[in-house]
Order: sequence, then C-alpha cells, then structure tokens
Amino acid sequence: MTKNEQLFQRAQRHIPGGVNSPVRAFGAVGGTPRFFARGAGAYVWDADDKRYIDYVGSWGPLILGHSHPEVVAAVQEAAAKGMSFGAPTEAEIDLADLLCHMLPSMQQVRLVSSGTEATMSAIRLARGFTGRDKLIKFEGCYHGHSDSLLVKAGSGLLTFGNPSSAGVPAAVAEHTVVLSYNDVAQLEAVFAAQGDQIAAIIVEPFCGNMNLVRPSAEFVAAMRRLTEQHGALLIYDEVMTGFRVGLGCAQGLHGITPDLTTLGKVIGGGMPLAAFGGRADVMAKIAPLGPVYQAGTLSGNPVAVAAGLATLKLISAPGFFDSLSAKTLRLAEGLQAAGRAAGQTFSADAVGGMFGAYFTAQAPQSYAEVMASDKPRFNAFFHGLLEEGVYLAPALYEAGFVSAAHSDADIADTLAAAARVFSRL
Ligand code: PMP
Repeated sequence: MTKNEQLFQRAQRHIPGGVNSPVRAFGAVGGTPRFFARGAGAYVWDADDKRYIDYVGSWGPLILGHSHPEVVAAVQEAAAKGMSFGAPTEAEIDLADLLCHMLPSMQQVRLVSSGTEATMSAIRLARGFTGRDKLIKFEGCYHGHSDSLLVKAGSGLLTFGNPSSAGVPAAVAEHTVVLSYNDVAQLEAVFAAQGDQIAAIIVEPFCGNMNLVRPSAEFVAAMRRLTEQHGALLIYDEVMTGFRVGLGCAQGLHGITPDLTTLGKVIGGGMPLAAFGGRADVMAKIAPLGPVYQAGTLSGNPVAVAAGLATLKLISAPGFFDSLSAKTLRLAEGLQAAGRAAGQTFSADAVGGMFGAYFTAQAPQSYAEVMASDKPRFNAFFHGLLEEGVYLAPALYEAGFVSAAHSDADIADTLAAAARVFSRL
C-alpha cells in the first residue's frame, strides 16, 4: 500500500469521507486522493514524495505559487506579534484601503474568513437594503455553501450529481431563482414578470465552477441594465476571479461597476481571508452602522491580512498579469493543439491566470454544454497526467490555475506530458 493509500484509510476513520471538503476525495475521478506533504513554487510533493506540477494552487489562492518567501516572511512576522485579537488593527485598515483603491466599485469593504461568508453576507445585505427576498443565480455557478446559494450550485455538487443539498429548507430555496448562464432572453423575462421582488443577481463574472465558462458581452450588459432598471443589486462574486483574471478583476475586464463585490482566495494569499464590499450607501446598512447583522471572531485576522497584503503588493508589480496571462494562454493553446493533434474532441480557453480544458469541440457557454462533455475521457486524462506528475483539479467541473512560479519549462513539460496522455486515450 502506498503512503497515500494508508493515509486515506486512516483519514476515513474520523473524518467523513476522509476529507474536509468533498471534491478532495477524488469521488468524481476515482482512485486515491493525494495527501500533500509540502509545496514550493509551482510544485507539490505527496506523502510518497512524488512531485507534481500543480495547476490547482489550493483552488486559486496561490497566484504566486506555494510558500512565496515574501508571503511566508509576512506571515511569520505577523504571527510573532499576535495570532488574533478580535479587535481592530492597523493592518486591516491598510488592506481595506488597498482593496478600495484597486477596485473603484468598492467604496467600503468588510473582511471575513471564507468566500462562503462573503457571499452569504452580501446577499443578506442586498435583501436588507432592498427589502426584497428573491435572488437570481445561474446554473453551474457556485457561491459557497450557504442555504440560499445551494440551489443547483456547481463545483462539488455537479461532481456528485446533486442538484441541491439535503438540509436546505424548501422555504429558503424557493426565494432563489436559478437561470441559465448567458441566457439574456430568460433573464429579461424574469425581470419583466417579477422585477419588483428581486433583491439581487449574484454571478460568477467568469464562471470557474463548471470548468471555465465566459459570459457574452450581451449577458454582462443585460445583468447591469436590468438590475438598475428594477432597483435590484448586481453582486459580482469575484472570490475566484478577483485579482486572478487581472489587476482590475473581472469587473475591470467587463467595464462594469457592480453594486457589491465578493472577494476571497487571492486576497488571502493562501490564508483564510475573504471580503465583501461595494457602494457606500449599501454598506452603511451593515452593523454596527445599520440593521443587517454580520460578524466574525477571526474576521480581519492579522496573520491572514499580512499574507493578503504581501500577495497584493507582489501582483501589483508592473507586467505581472501580462506575463501570467501570456503563460496561461500558452498552456491553453498548447493543450488544445496537443489534444486535437491526437484526434481528440478537445478545446481549451484562458482568462488571466485561469484556464479551462474541455472534452468538447468548442469552449462551452452554459451548464448544459459543460454537462455534455466526455466525462470518462476527462477522468482518463486526469489520471494519465497525475501519473506523469501533473496535478489538475480532480473533477471536470473546475477551472485550472497557473501561478507566477510556473516556469516556461514547467509549461513545456506539462504540454509534453499532455501529448503523451492524449495519444494513449
Ligand atoms: N464563490 C466562488 C466563485 C467560489 O469559487 C468559491 C469557492 N470555490 C466560493 C464562493 C466559496 O468560497 P469558500 O470555499 O472560501 O467558502
């Protein structure tokens, strides 16, 4: 038995499914999850000391790669001064100032500890601000695991073929209207029929939880126009895309000013940190200023804030995103060329440091198109690459992530490995 297999057996004794977040269990692709012992730059090593080029990056946060020395130093320095106070600190003002400076739509921001908290709080705020209950989300988008948002969500739920979760009261879920991503006519029809009841649209502005799916320009414009016309709020869930697709986030690429934005992943540099913020008049409804309650023992944690500040400083260096985007595009184009050269029905796409890889003829536009892709073939591809020392997300429904630590040689090695795997499929 390998060490990974031994650990997986041991893990299942006291941890449900042996994991602390479902997709980690390899349920979709089969086989034994890799237990990681350490990471450095673009690489991770598992319990059997096998090295992998990592394209998961802790599901997005590690845009600088594993254990960047400046981030580690910032974390060590902060931890030595105090792990948590549950009281205000100067560093959290620095982070709030920086976020509001980097994202013009964000006039005020509150720090929390996970993306789930950020989106849950943002929708409570949108409901409190508008006095309305209904929420629009799109099929295949994942916004964390709070009750209102676990309605045909993506990510692990797609993986397990679970359209929604047990334990979510129907009375909560009925306020969530689930529509098709990129379907403008459907969105217009819903606003025409019940626009005065809709508190907000929440959307992944590039969806990364059903593989990578781009929004059309018409869809993006329609969401902004319809929410404005009907007095609803537009919430950009940039937990994944924030400081990942570009320094101005997805909203910068779209030229859209959302009312509220949620952030996570990159802004914590690998530590538990997330945020929600936006229009000052809306944020004024949050406690202690207003009637919408939200709180957290570890919110604005100084160690997490230090990791976030160090990360945001490093990604703000001139040319950072040009280089990351070019590298990610080279990977996507190379994968597509290798797949097609081997006669596979395959396509790939990239936005900033995020990529999609699909066993479909073209990049999909919706959940239905993603679901039509060849799952057994993806699973064989995943395991082939794993064998070759390349770690992709263990499910077809996830975007991939490239970091600044991935070298040209890492990309070339990955493409050579992919060509070998494609030819064996
Ligand atoms: N929103 C989006 C777009 C996400 O991708 C995720 C997590 N993958 C979340 C929210 C939830 O974040 P967390 O896992 O930190 O709760």
